[in-house]
Amino acid sequence: MRRQRRTKIVATLGPASGDRNVITRLFEAGADVFRINMSHTSHDRMRELIDMIRSIEHEQGRPIGILVDLQGPKLRLGTFGGGFTMVKKGDTFVLDSNKEAGDAGRVYLPHPEILEATQPGQTLLLDDGKVRLICIDKAPGQLTTRVEVGGKLSDRKGVSLPETTLPFSALTEKDRSDLDAALNAGIDWLALSFIQRPDDIAEAKKIARGRAAIMAKIEKPQAVTRLEEILEVTDSLMVARGDLGVEMPLEKVPGIQKQITRAARRAGKPVIVATQMLESMITSPVPTRAEVSDVSIAVFEGADAIMLSAESAAGQYPVEAVATMNRIAEEVERDPTYRSVIQAQRAEPEATGADAIAAAARQIAETLDLSTVICWTFSGSTAFRVARERPMPPVVAISPNIATGRRLSLVWGVHCVVAEDAHDQDDMVERACRIAFSDGFAKAGRRVIIVAGVPLGTPGATNMLRIAFVGADQADH
Ligand code: PGA
Ligand code: MN
Repeated sequence: MRRQRRTKIVATLGPASGDRNVITRLFEAGADVFRINMSHTSHDRMRELIDMIRSIEHEQGRPIGILVDLQGPKLRLGTFGGGFTMVKKGDTFVLDSNKEAGDAGRVYLPHPEILEATQPGQTLLLDDGKVRLICIDKAPGQLTTRVEVGGKLSDRKGVSLPETTLPFSALTEKDRSDLDAALNAGIDWLALSFIQRPDDIAEAKKIARGRAAIMAKIEKPQAVTRLEEILEVTDSLMVARGDLGVEMPLEKVPGIQKQITRAARRAGKPVIVATQMLESMITSPVPTRAEVSDVSIAVFEGADAIMLSAESAAGQYPVEAVATMNRIAEEVERDPTYRSVIQAQRAEPEATGADAIAAAARQIAETLDLSTVICWTFSGSTAFRVARERPMPPVVAISPNIATGRRLSLVWGVHCVVAEDAHDQDDMVERACRIAFSDGFAKAGRRVIIVAGVPLGTPGATNMLRIAFVGADQADH
């Protein structure tokens, strides 16, 4: 089974997609990676979902990626006497360390670090930015604010501080325990929410010790400012437009999306565009024109993956949402303008053997109109560098390592096959051609290009390029 598109699809699992049958249908409709959101999932439920995905993977014979998304330091208000209160522009409103129920004049804020770190003049956004406060005074355990934009405040609504760098790491106690459970269950990608600085990633990396690759969700202005440093330490990025659109003016999000996808492509690290891509499909079987256009923009940007959140997790049409994304990506990639738009943002190769070979492989494959670029790779690094070139022929990555296949399921254009390692170079070429044939990437008589590091099994040494014919005898196997 092969996909007819390069852009990958990530589908979040939830109550609308919690059983094996629906997950199978999501995979068949086009989901390459499943996301488990730890804000809404218990450890037992996470393990059940992982077991189901692994069993579907076995049945389908294709590696499937699992992305576990940690909640991060999501800040929340305390509670009110009657469940809510109303505040209006010009009112004074206090946030404090007093655990008693709140009223129209004050509420408990169960995060002493915020009471400490916020300075007069800084903004506090409540309930996804619907209510906006400006700090006008502070005292120990108490912030006095003026209401800039009023509205309803109810129990445990979220709090964002776009102008304040918070003095704690992106890993809360809950995150540490979720992280531990996820690593033990065996996952491929680990997303960190509300990171502010490169150290937040370094900390998770130290705990993961290579057992999962790290994804930095860019959803705070502080992370946008330090994007290049964050990109150096993370394995991948997510344009987390939900919270980004709360913490920054909405009209800045499209430009930031472009900056992030370009930076990630330059670095050769996968990037997901996420949130509200087909939002109306939560309740409607067809998307809006604007949503289709939004998905197309991410595909034209050369994003590695596009993501569904509530559409697949809690909506009425989870399978239709995946099928819709699949259709949009396929069609955009067939458009005559696609190739030139993708190529316009191609970054020069870095001065390494792997990049030089990846660039050469793309060039040769495109010049000679070869059927596919095949990467024989243990760790996947060769395939990451080839994908960075965004070649027009399909990329097939063959690895003896199932973990590599699963990780690569997120990467632009890469079809991964798990196969026993080759004995020698001839065996490798022979088997690469056979796999390209059997998985529908090359017909008999067509040529492919194979990229590898030899001798096989030396990690990180991409040094070989070979053009090979797919013979009729391979087709016979
Ligand atoms: P979330 O992250 O769904 O975990 O909030 C994505 C986003 O903020 O866009
Ligand atoms: Mn978020």
